[in-house]
Amino acid sequence: MTASRSARQRKAASEAGPLATVRIDLGADQQLVYKISCTVCRARGDKNSDKAWSAYRPGGDNGYLAAMDRWTFHLHENHRGSDAPCLAYLPEAQQRLHERREQQDGAQDRA
Ligand SMILES: [Zn+2]
Repeated sequence: MTASRSARQRKAASEAGPLATVRIDLGADQQLVYKISCTVCRARGDKNSDKAWSAYRPGGDNGYLAAMDRWTFHLHENHRGSDAPCLAYLPEAQQRLHERREQQDGAQDRA
């Protein structure tokens, strides 16, 4: 792992707070793929497995902002009162989610 990738990983982990495990992989196109998983929650519909809940979406946008936004929503919904620094950006994350949905709606209207 390059020094900058591990530095980014440390920074993302400190933003995501104590409940998160952050890993950065390199995607096929050399993009950084952020994988933020929860140390407490299991993957949905998979109660008996060891698979942790993860903000990673195969085939989706897994850049820093997209992954951190999904993680922030997870904290907000499941771990209220957690003191993760990223929760300070919840209003911005909600705004971005809103904009993404509007873009998707717009695309459907044109289709
Ligand atoms: Zn969780």
